[in-house]
Amino acid sequence: MKKLAIIGDPVSHSHSPEIHNFISKRNGLDYRYEILETPRGTLKDRICMLKSEYAGFNVTSPYKIEVMQYLDEISPQAQKYGAVNTVVNRKGKLYGYNTDADGFFMSIPGRSVSGKHILILGAGGAAHPVAMNFAERGAASVTILNRTAKKAEDIKENLAKYGLKLETEQKRERYDLIINCTTLGMGKHKNMLPPLDLGIIDEKTLVGDMIYNPPKTLFLKESEKRGAKIFNGLGMLVYQAVLAYELFADVKLNENTADEIFKEVFGL
Ligand code: NAP
Repeated sequence: MKKLAIIGDPVSHSHSPEIHNFISKRNGLDYRYEILETPRGTLKDRICMLKSEYAGFNVTSPYKIEVMQYLDEISPQAQKYGAVNTVVNRKGKLYGYNTDADGFFMSIPGRSVSGKHILILGAGGAAHPVAMNFAERGAASVTILNRTAKKAEDIKENLAKYGLKLETEQKRERYDLIINCTTLGMGKHKNMLPPLDLGIIDEKTLVGDMIYNPPKTLFLKESEKRGAKIFNGLGMLVYQAVLAYELFADVKLNENTADEIFKEVFGL
């Protein structure tokens, strides 16, 4: 049996084992996926162990950037996004990838960002790859608003290196797609809304939230009240995992895989 894992701190809440182990079982593949809590300061030793014993692993907060220094090769896409969430061990060499941004794109109802005006709230590790991915896919405009303006400016600079444009001010009265990439709406911030005039949301707006617990954040509830079509972060979680599994096992999974996971693992 080949071993897979997710590392992070904290990571005990992760649903990734359920998703990956479901895929293994469904496809008769001999992989077992587990959670490896990796306290801060122990990443180097953890990678050493993974390199000798595991076929691959996922990386979550706070290690998506730090892990890059320990890898033998990093895909051009992950280099651009400046973050790795999937590592494949091929004959003792570690290869880093990023499946978060494509995973998020695949979770968007209609999967269309080309020609759209997009507003992203938040400029953390999750917002950056997604903003870049949208710009690469031909969005008409991508705007990032963040409490700490400097972080949004840093992302703008990185995109500019690749000839991609990012706005860091709200210049429009409406957007086709608005996404919450802040932590406002979950945990101790459960009753908080991201800073935005909700008046810009109407029945033509598609509103997403990267948060999936709770399944419907206050932001999604308020957006729905204004007639918007909404989606949460569960799709991102599932699609990034499906893409990661294909890299781990070097297989192409059935295109119904994500739908099966929603149904069989999450009861949706
Ligand atoms: P992060 O790097 O810690 O960034 C957090 C963001 O939230 C920053 O932009 C931060 O603004 C903002 N923020 C936090 N508290 C705030 C407040 N009181 N007022 C205004 N802004 C505030 O986190 P991340 O990794 O990007 O994750 C962002 C969200 O996406 C989280 O909710 C995470 O759970 C979710 N996520 C979901 C998936 C999935 O698979 N569905 C995957 C990754 C992440 P400052 O820069 O000003 O601090």
